[in-house]
Formats: sequence, structure tokens, C-alpha cells
Amino acid sequence: MTSTPHVVVVGGGLAGLVAARHLAAGGVDVTLLEREATVGGRVRTVERDGYRFDRGFQVLFTAYPAVKRELDLEALELRRFAPGAIIARPGHRSTLADPVRDPRALPATLFNRDVSFGDKLRVARLRVDLARDDLDDVFDGPDETIDAFLRDRGFSERFIENFAAPFYGGICLDRTLSTSKRVFEYTFRTLAIGDTAVPAAGMGAIPAQLADRVRDAGATLETDRAVEAVEPDGDGGTTVRTAEETLAADAVVVTTDPPTARELTDVEAIPTAGRACVTQYYRLPGDADLETGKRLVLNAGDAGPDGGPNQVVPHSAVAPEYAPDDATLLSATYLGEREESDEELADRTRSALESWFPERLFGGLESLHTERIPFAQFDQPPGIHDRLPDVRDPAGSVYLAGDYMRWSSIQGAMKSGRQAAGAVLEDVSGR
Ligand SMILES: Cc1cc2nc3c(=O)[nH]c(=O)nc-3n(C[C@H](O)[C@H](O)[C@H](O)COP(=O)(O)OP(=O)(O)OC[C@H]3O[C@@H](n4cnc5c(N)ncnc54)[C@H](O)[C@@H]3O)c2cc1C
Repeated sequence: MTSTPHVVVVGGGLAGLVAARHLAAGGVDVTLLEREATVGGRVRTVERDGYRFDRGFQVLFTAYPAVKRELDLEALELRRFAPGAIIARPGHRSTLADPVRDPRALPATLFNRDVSFGDKLRVARLRVDLARDDLDDVFDGPDETIDAFLRDRGFSERFIENFAAPFYGGICLDRTLSTSKRVFEYTFRTLAIGDTAVPAAGMGAIPAQLADRVRDAGATLETDRAVEAVEPDGDGGTTVRTAEETLAADAVVVTTDPPTARELTDVEAIPTAGRACVTQYYRLPGDADLETGKRLVLNAGDAGPDGGPNQVVPHSAVAPEYAPDDATLLSATYLGEREESDEELADRTRSALESWFPERLFGGLESLHTERIPFAQFDQPPGIHDRLPDVRDPAGSVYLAGDYMRWSSIQGAMKSGRQAAGAVLEDVSGR
């Protein structure tokens, strides 16, 4: 091959942005085509009237290896959550912290009756056991549900109901804990060794920083460009069709959401079942700090179809930049696709907060913005990570990247983007 190879990256989520950057840095000519008006995919932020609304409640785990490698964390001006959570049910709240990382919370945690002393010891033991392994080792060996894993290790019903179901239910968007234990092990470990944070400007600052790096590396980034088909050109290359034109490429990296990737490539191993959630944002007038100590509030009571949200997050207490000075910003996340109207969900949240904080008034709670996300993560039952596709699975010079190549997370998406870029560079330089 004599001229500079041309690579098209389809999709500008975290996987696509990381792939495009490494491809351009590797010396190929790169065009990234993104369907929406902005990049970021599932990681985006809407700014309105001085508020920042992320696309659902999401956070950055600073200990993710790909996060450390791909991002300038200092430039993101991270605002950190305190380790642990507030456990809430009607008429009752308690603090469960990580005493190693937050010694000031030790007394509250030791005397917390929502979790037994035996469970606290089991958490400490798990910490030691998981710290021994390389993070990626969690994807080797047998798998089971998070629920079975915790019960096998002797955790009590109380621990599972009061803490694990709402906390890991929030991470996996699955309160029944039927998700692969590998997701639990990876996130438990990263939570133990790093911070949980959001950029001051919102989660959308993450793809914005990556997009700058893509452009700095020399790639072209085009938004509002939906790819309709990716087809072999019969000559070893591939054509990429959009509504406006057909592009010829030496290689194409498909980094869309999993259902679209399956449609574009016909690779059957791409998972298409997803998990949904609804996050609603609220304003409380003035500085209405819920005094959660920068922790999220977990619903240990009813979060079923007639119940309250899975968790409530005190956004402006953690990141003051998320709200104007004269207001407090909270959010509530409901798991699954909810049929209730925005008003009905706001009423549910108001009732839940009034029952958890009976000493406070929530009449002034005003709903500002609702994010309904039908496909937030791909479904991850035990064993699924062994069946995910390979980067070179599609026919011809087409490659795959996206969270669905590894596991549904910022880490999985970014790592897959880098791996796809590596595979393309290896193949085009060998032609
Ligand atoms: C509510 C929520 C909470 C989450 N919480 C966390 C968390 O706390 N921590 C964590 O690590 N992970 C979390 N995740 C998961 C994480 O955000 C995703 O795994 C990751 O962002 C997926 O990135 P991706 O690049 O693989 O895919 P996507 O973000 O889906 O990007 C795909 C891109 O392709 C574009 N596209 C689609 N079709 C086309 C087409 N035909 N042509 C051109 N472009 C197209 C899309 O517009 C999109 O920009 C959360 C996700 C959600 C939604």
C-alpha cells in the first residue's frame, strides 16, 4: 500500500473517540462519523439555565486503567463523592462508609445496624481477596450472578437487601443482582482503590476532552452523519454509506451502540438486550443540603413498580457547578422503562424523600428535566463476557469496538477503542 490508508470510524461514543485518536496518532487518515449533533453517545450532559443534567446518573471511577491512560483527569476538575452511601427507608437513615478511605465515618459505619458486623468483616475480606488479582483476571474462570456470589461468601440477607441490591442495582441497573459477578468484582475493586467523581462541567466533559484529542491527532470528526450501511467493496476495502454520500475506506471500525452495530455488521455475537433507566432532576430552592456528606442515598425500601426511586443523588452538594448558586440540584433514578408520566415520577420522588427525611419539607421540589434511557447498558447475565465478539469478527476490513466487546462501562468502551485501533494499524501496515 503506497498512499496513507483511510479509516472510517462509525460512532463517536467513548469507544469511537478513543479508536479515532489512536488511529490518527498511528499515522492513518481518519474520518469519524457520528449520527447525533454532539459526540459522547451514552455519556453526555445537557446544560440549561445554569444546571447540568447528565444523561442519567453516571460517574467516573478514577481507578479504571483506561481512564488513567486516556484522560487528563486534572483538566476535568473532578468533584468527588464520599465513599459509601446513605441507606434510607421510611423513617430511617444510616451511613455506610468505607472506613479505610473515610476514617471520619468509622463510628457511623461500625454502629450501622442495617449491615451486620459479620458483613463488615466479609467486606474487609473481599477487599483483600480481590486486591490480589489483576483487574482483568475477573473475566477468567467460572461465573455466577452477583446474588449467588454474595450468598456463597456468607453475606446476610440484610446486607443484600439494604446495601447490595440498591448500590449494585444502581451500577448494573438491575436490583435483582442477576448480573454477572464479574461486573461486581471489577467495580468493587476499582471503588476500593480509587475515587468516584464527576467532572465539574458534567460527564459530557469526558467525550469533549477526547474529541479535542481526536482533532489534535489530525482526524476529521463529523457530526449529524448517520451511517446507513457498511459493505465490502469487492477489492479488500469497504464502503460506508450515509444519506449524503458513499465513502471508500481501507478499513472501517464500527463503534455504535450494540443493536446498531449488529444491524450494520450482521455479527450475531453482538448482544442486543439492554437495560433501561429513567433519571429525573429536581430543584430545591436555596441551599437545601440534605447533609448526606456527599454520598448518594440508597432506597432500601420499596423500589418496585409502586415504590420510589432506586437512589437519590445530591448533585450540587458534590459538584456545586451543576446548579446556580441559589438552588440545590438532586436527581432520582428509576430502573427499567417506566410508564409513569414525568409528574407521576416527581410525586413518587417527593413521597420517598418525605418518608426518608421526615424532619424536612419537600413541597418546593420542582422537576426540571427527565432523561428516559431505553438502552443504557447491555444486559450482562453470567457467562456473557465469554461469548462476546472478537475485534475482527465482521467480514472483510471491518472491525468492532464498543462496550459490548468487553463489559458495559466507560472502562470497557475505552479499552475496546484502543484495541480496535491496534488491530487496524497492525493489519493495514502489513498489507
Ligand atoms: C444512565 C447510564 C449510566 C451509566 N453509568 C455508568 C457508570 O457510572 N460508570 C461506567 O463506567 N459506565 C456507566 N455507563 C455505561 C457507559 O456509559 C457505556 O458503557 C459507554 O459509554 C458506552 O460507550 P460506547 O462508545 O461503547 O457506546 P455509545 O456511548 O452508545 O456510543 C455509540 C455512538 O455511536 C453513535 N451511532 C449510533 N448509530 C450510528 C450510526 N448509524 N451512524 C453514526 N453514528 C452512530 C451514537 O450516536 C453514539 O454516539 C452508564 C450508561 C448509562 C446510559
